Amino acid sequence: MKRILVLAVFFSIMKSMTVCPALWAGTTFVTIGTGGITGVYYPAGRAIAKMVSNKQQKYGIRATAEITPGSVYNINAIVSGDMAFGIVQSDRQFQALHGQAEWADKGPQKDLRAVFSLHSEVLTLVATVASGIITVCDLKGKRVNIGEPGSGQRQNAIDALMAVGIVPEKDLKAEGFKSSEAPGLLQEGRLDAFFYTVGHPSSALREATAGLAKVRFVPLTGPEIEDLVREKPFYAKCAFPAKMYPGVANEEENIETFGVRAALCSSVKVPEDAVYAVTKAVFDNIGEFRKLHPALGELDKKEMLEGLLAPLHPGAEKYFRQSGLLKQSGARK
Ligand code: GLU
Repeated sequence: MKRILVLAVFFSIMKSMTVCPALWAGTTFVTIGTGGITGVYYPAGRAIAKMVSNKQQKYGIRATAEITPGSVYNINAIVSGDMAFGIVQSDRQFQALHGQAEWADKGPQKDLRAVFSLHSEVLTLVATVASGIITVCDLKGKRVNIGEPGSGQRQNAIDALMAVGIVPEKDLKAEGFKSSEAPGLLQEGRLDAFFYTVGHPSSALREATAGLAKVRFVPLTGPEIEDLVREKPFYAKCAFPAKMYPGVANEEENIETFGVRAALCSSVKVPEDAVYAVTKAVFDNIGEFRKLHPALGELDKKEMLEGLLAPLHPGAEKYFRQSGLLKQSGARK
């Protein structure tokens, strides 16, 4: 009994370490921080973990994906050494590196590194038809989930609101629920609307749009939003097809809004070999990776080197040079 307990404690200590010494000779354990269970980060992180662990014999790495609040939490876990990898929005990479937004007090997070880009993410605003919300300006006085602290979307929602002159703490009932809770709360009428920065299609949005309460996507457009996108180097205008969500009340074909791009990130302190192995495991099996979630279906190897706003990790760079995706010589800016 005592032995079992000692083993259990040992296992839980090993599990909490980022790149921990081999439990099985030569095996390194790594954790990939993702997002909410109904987002895209979690299935993407699980797919990466599966591909890496399948090659355990060759590279000696076992990876697991962990549910987290999202980008901001993942960056903090990476730079503190609690996690070796995490999926992170491009805007949040930029802000962490430059000591902005949630990092304004802590300063620049210089150890953050990018590994490769993943899918595009769209700032999505969904509201009940009963709330009467048609444009972002109608959010005044409403109960709106802007995102859990630690999530990527929280600052995106604040940016969209502030752009049209709505101060979240003053002009609406801003909530910080988990992204996986928001769809249920919307359907129950306990929220009028919620923001979510996510790849499409996402199961959270399927849940939000397929219930008894009729809901609509609210486009994020207009001159103020145009100015916001022009001002911030990390935002780009984009749209997604409403028909991805059959139950939705919108009549327009495409919902126009703005977005960012997700990327796998790591720390300069994570060994080159580990990052090389993770990069190779995914790129060598890109066809299989694409099939693991519809939001990953369009991934293109070359484009996965674009949209990275943190410096490239040397382990990823080594793989990209070897495979010819980056020119053999010359430094990458
Ligand atoms: N973009 C969200 C965030 O960083 C997560 C989206 C997802 O889990 O797919 O918080």
